[in-house]
Amino acid sequence: MQHLDPGTVSMAALDEPLDTDSQVHLDGCDACASEVRELNSVVLAARGDFAGATLESPDSQVWAAIHQELGLQPALSTDPLTYPSPVQDATPVSELSQVRAKKRTFTPKFLIAAVTAGALTGAGALWAVQQLQAEVTPTVVAQSQLDPLDGFTAAGSASVVTTGDGVRTLQITVTEDQAEGYQEVWLIAPDLAQMYSLGVVGGGTSSLVIPDHVDLAAFPIVDVSDEPLDGDPLHSGVSVLRGTLAAQAAQAG
Ligand SMILES: [Zn+2]
Repeated sequence: MQHLDPGTVSMAALDEPLDTDSQVHLDGCDACASEVRELNSVVLAARGDFAGATLESPDSQVWAAIHQELGLQPALSTDPLTYPSPVQDATPVSELSQVRAKKRTFTPKFLIAAVTAGALTGAGALWAVQQLQAEVTPTVVAQSQLDPLDGFTAAGSASVVTTGDGVRTLQITVTEDQAEGYQEVWLIAPDLAQMYSLGVVGGGTSSLVIPDHVDLAAFPIVDVSDEPLDGDPLHSGVSVLRGTLAAQAAQAG
């Protein structure tokens, strides 16, 4: 039996609507239902609803992993579950191991840290925590102007946008569809020999998913071709627009 994937489990735990197949599976599968319940208790706790949430205190190494995973500031490197101590900063490691041996008293602030840490035990849970954090802002990681090739006058631009779930999309704008056939978008290696087709676009702005395995450093050229309706899946050799993606520096503030 195909169980729900972690993303779907997270959706269910967040009380988001599922597609019919997933919902039917969830209704009939104890294993998945139990996963959803467990994660749901984490979600409730992270939202501040501690009633009924089952919690456990994670090892401090978990916080270290979260700290690294989320790229938090050095000031936040201390496990929030540790007790304040005058010598803690000077000897964090030995202090942490002593603290771990003590019985902990939970306050809501510590509980939130605890469930966040506990959520890291599963990919789906991590996904849920990411959803609970400030809405993930799409980040532009690379950009290019698209310039017309001989015989064409359209202009355009392309941006590679990532979201918190790691999905990359190419957002491409073409001022005017000047293809005699249809416009197909490609990511091409500098030798112009290897390429991936991302899909078909018209004029205006389109969003195309970039497959996970495509290395943009190796395929930096964005090309819009004019494809005749001949059933041939290969590049026609006629390009309307082209540009080379350049990494976009992270924006300050
Ligand atoms: Zn299942």
